[in-house]
Amino acid sequence: MRNFRVPLLITTPIYYANAAPHLGSAYTTIAADVLARHWRNQKRRVFSLTGTDEHGQKVADAAKQAGVDPQAFVDQQAKVFKTAFQGLNVGFDRFIRTTEPDHLKGVEFFLNQLKKAQTPKKRPAIYKGIYQGWYCQGCEKFLTEKELVEGKCPLHQTAPQYLTEENYFFRLSDYLPQIRKAISQNKLKIFPSTARQETLGYFKQGVQDFSISRQKVDWGVPLPFDKRQTAYVWVDALPNYLTGVGYGQGRRYRNWWRGEVVHFMARDILKFHAIYWPALLLAVGEPMPYTIVAHGFFTVEGKKMSKSLGNVILPKEAIAKFGVDGTRYLLLSACPFGQDGDLSMVRFLEKYNADLANGLGNLASRTTNMLERYLVGRVSLGQPPKPLLRANQHIENFDFFRALQEIWKTITWANQAIDKVQPWELAKKQDKTSQAKLKKFLSELAAQLLEIAKAIKPFMPEAGKRIEASLHAESIKKIPPLFIRAV
Ligand SMILES: [Zn+2]
Repeated sequence: MRNFRVPLLITTPIYYANAAPHLGSAYTTIAADVLARHWRNQKRRVFSLTGTDEHGQKVADAAKQAGVDPQAFVDQQAKVFKTAFQGLNVGFDRFIRTTEPDHLKGVEFFLNQLKKAQTPKKRPAIYKGIYQGWYCQGCEKFLTEKELVEGKCPLHQTAPQYLTEENYFFRLSDYLPQIRKAISQNKLKIFPSTARQETLGYFKQGVQDFSISRQKVDWGVPLPFDKRQTAYVWVDALPNYLTGVGYGQGRRYRNWWRGEVVHFMARDILKFHAIYWPALLLAVGEPMPYTIVAHGFFTVEGKKMSKSLGNVILPKEAIAKFGVDGTRYLLLSACPFGQDGDLSMVRFLEKYNADLANGLGNLASRTTNMLERYLVGRVSLGQPPKPLLRANQHIENFDFFRALQEIWKTITWANQAIDKVQPWELAKKQDKTSQAKLKKFLSELAAQLLEIAKAIKPFMPEAGKRIEASLHAESIKKIPPLFIRAV
């Protein structure tokens, strides 16, 4: 089992600053926040990290289009992401930005370590190689085959030139056997098992060395050993997990990096986290055993979310309709964590009313109402009939969907118990047996509700807190509805 005393570092990917936060990034970030809140509630030391990836050609392009310089552009974008996550009640310890001075310093340190590194086959980890591709003069960048339309740059309608440039490459191939072994032996854990299988599949397909620098991208971190080139994507973005906790400035980062590390992400960047990143860590002499948790993608009513289809659900729209707690609940209960999910506002509405307004909300107000009316000033919480231990275990195994199922089983059970026992009928009878029965039932119900409040707190911090506060009050008062029915 896990050692609770080991500090826990929880990360989300840093989000690329050229776009706006969408439901997918909200989902990843909420999931990471649920785990962080769960462990914090158990008094474990947790550091949660999220942020923005602010370098690269696409950001420079987006800034140019907006008519501002890249730094002003990313300053604005970082604010947008920060505000969006705060709006979802995500309590991160640090929001890291890859243009921050300590990150730049940390990446330089990382790159220098990489330059000095020898692979297990005693070869330099970094070598000069040739990068080839289609270069558009107008765009001033390489375009991928996919981006070309009938062999032309779609923006400039001109045929790109086939150019080669000298880049630095990372000798990933020399590290593959070690990483594959770590995954097979579960020293490098990947959740869920489908994501683990997918990763093992990459090894069969073959994984190539990758280029870590570009000559023609100015908006980036210059390589400390060759200032004509800038660091390319992975060696700038991935090290944020280290620099975010102080890498490159003494040994402080080890408090976190030598503890337990959990990386959350969507499956599209699984390969880079499960193969590239551990190899880079091995090269710079950092330990790699850690946990990767990858979730799937969302469609809306069976279709891919896209602006042109007009079916994009924005986090703020969901919040406006279902509240912050409601949105967090609806997203994490939408599909088993790790699988692809299909969303619809209609289903959200039904689920919100059924599970929150009727289910949890109704249980909380009925229970506190009866405690207020029938047991004035003499409430002591009984033993909860059903502890929610299994929900906790599911959270710790990153199975948020099943954790919620477990909690909702108990909510349904408690609501049914009230209907069956009919405490209001017992209250009418004045005999001792009925009164004792009433008291026992309500104090157990109150204890059960408190258990439920604790269990939902990582998912729905506000609702959890409000229920807890009401049950801890000297004399219990009925709480106003937690979830207003939505229409
Ligand atoms: Zn072009």
